[in-house]
Amino acid sequence: MNLRVTEIFLSIQGESTHAGRPCAFVRLTGCPMRCEWCDSQYTFTGGEQKSFEEIFAKLQEFDCNLVEVTGGEPLAQKEAFPFIKELCDRDYEVLIETGGFFSTEEVDKRATIILDVKCPASGESEGNHWSNLERLRSDTDEVKFVVADLRDWEFAKEIIRKYDLENQTKAILISPVFGIENLKEIAEEISRSGLKVRLNLQLHKYVWGADARGV
Ligand code: SF4
Repeated sequence: MNLRVTEIFLSIQGESTHAGRPCAFVRLTGCPMRCEWCDSQYTFTGGEQKSFEEIFAKLQEFDCNLVEVTGGEPLAQKEAFPFIKELCDRDYEVLIETGGFFSTEEVDKRATIILDVKCPASGESEGNHWSNLERLRSDTDEVKFVVADLRDWEFAKEIIRKYDLENQTKAILISPVFGIENLKEIAEEISRSGLKVRLNLQLHKYVWGADARGV
């Protein structure tokens, strides 16, 4: 089986509670959505067809047990599901970073889900697949809200309460869009919220810059 792949690389996990850990990334090509602030538009087209064996051979070069499958939207290719299963069979610790528009139901249960909930400023909040929130597991899975402004933060709080995410997830990540002016204001809102949330800054962008690829 094949997958269309934009890049495979070794780096540092930049987000989530796994931030700072060495991590191998498999970035799959393609996403049907168009979030306003998307930082991976280069994945929308192009890429290269690679067999599972080619991908595993590349991963082996890295000698890194933590693997994140990301995109684009990794679950947009149906072959991603057997690929994730095979990663788990090979005893990799697997993270799936998904935009939240496709059902996570068929994702191998050994993989950890990091699920985006799209807020209004993304322009794609109508596309959220809400039943994914009910599938999150409190011991492993994380949920991420990318917020561009205070309206997004209000939206995030509403969803956190509605789906009881403080009890249904391992972590609730509030991730301000990189470079926004009101970062301090959002951080202060988070600090005063009384909610079990965490400010999630994209570590890799501070190290390698906002536009760097393959790191
Ligand atoms: S879901 Fe992710 S890859 Fe797709 S447009 Fe939104 S931010 Fe970009």
